[in-house]
Amino acid sequence: MEKSKVLIIGGTGYLGKRLVKASLAEGHETYILHRAEIGVDIEKVQMLLSFKEQGAHLVSGSFTDHQSLVKAIKLVDVVICAISGVHIRSHQILLQLKLIDAIKDAGNVKRFLPSEFGTDPARMKDALEPGRVTFDDKMIVRKAIEDAQIPFTYISANCFAGYFLGGLCQPGKILPSRDTVVLLGDGNEKAIYVEEDDIALYTIKTIDDPRALNKTVYLRPPKNVLSQREVVEIWEKLIGKELQKSSIPKEEFLASLKGQEYAHQVGLIHYYHVCYEGCLANFEIGNDAVEASELYPEIKYTTVEEYMKRYL
Ligand code: NDP
Repeated sequence: MEKSKVLIIGGTGYLGKRLVKASLAEGHETYILHRAEIGVDIEKVQMLLSFKEQGAHLVSGSFTDHQSLVKAIKLVDVVICAISGVHIRSHQILLQLKLIDAIKDAGNVKRFLPSEFGTDPARMKDALEPGRVTFDDKMIVRKAIEDAQIPFTYISANCFAGYFLGGLCQPGKILPSRDTVVLLGDGNEKAIYVEEDDIALYTIKTIDDPRALNKTVYLRPPKNVLSQREVVEIWEKLIGKELQKSSIPKEEFLASLKGQEYAHQVGLIHYYHVCYEGCLANFEIGNDAVEASELYPEIKYTTVEEYMKRYL
C-alpha cells in the first residue's frame, strides 16, 4: 500500500517536531505548514530548514488566509495538527475550527488528527474549572470534525514523559530532585507516562491503519502505568538513595490554586485529575477504542526506568 502524504501543522512545536521526524522516518512524504507569522523567529526557521534538508516540504500558509490552508491541504492525504494547547506555553486549540473549514473545502482528506495528545476529553465532562477549558475546547473541535464527517483519529497520549517524569509528577517541576519529593495525596493513583518520540511514532503508525479510523487510540504502554510512588521508587533505585517524602492532601492542593495565575490554575487542575483521581488509568478501554501498544507490538517503547536514566 502506498503511504499517505502528510501535512503537519505546528511542526515546530514540542510534539510537532517529533511528528515531523517520525513521519519522515516512516517514509511518508511530509509537508509542514510554514506560517508567515513565524517572522524572524530564527530558531523555528532554522528548524524548518533542517526538516527541509531531511526531505520535508515546506508549504506556506496562515490561519488568517483560508485559501492558503486549502491549498496546503490539497497536497496531502492526511492532516495532523499539533497546535499549542498548554496554557503556561500557549493555547490555540480553537484555531483548529479554521483548519476544519479548510479541510471541508479541500474535500480530499482521508484522515485528520486534531491536536489532542493528552487526557481523553470525552471522559472529562465533570472536570473542574478552570482546567476543564482544555477538554471543553478539544470537544468543540471534535464536534466540528464529526459534524463535517471528516475521517479522524484521536490520540489520547496520557502524560508526556518530560513534564511528568522529569518532575516526579510534581506540578511546576521538570527536573527530579535527589533529596525531596511532595506526593500528591497518598501518591498511589496510577497514571500513564509516554516518551514524546514514542507518542509521535505511535501517532504516525495510525494514519494509514484502518483499525484506527474514526477511533480514539489510547497510548498505554503496559510497563508505564505507574503511580507517583512507583515513579519515585524507580528514581530512588537509580540514584541509590531514598528521598525525603511529604504529602499534600487533596483539599490543601485545591485551596492552593486561589490567587494563582489562570494558566497555572489550568495546569494544576490537570494534575489534580491525573494524580488525585487517577483519570487516565481508572477505566477499561471499550470496544469503541483501541490501544496503541496492542496495535503495534513491534514498537519497543521507552520504559519509565529507561527514561529516568537521562536525569542521572
Ligand atoms: P507547542 O506549545 O509546542 O506549540 C505547537 C505549535 O503551535 C507551535 O510551534 C506553532 O506552530 C503552533 N502555534 C502556536 N501559536 C499559534 C498561533 N497563534 N497560530 C497558529 N499556530 C500556532 O505545543 P505542544 O507540543 O506543547 O502541544 C501540542 C498538543 O499536545 C496540544 O494539544 C497539547 O494540549 C498537548 N500536550 C499534552 C501534554 C500531556 O502531558 N499529555 C503536554 C503538553 C502538550 P508553527 O509555528 O510551526 O506553525
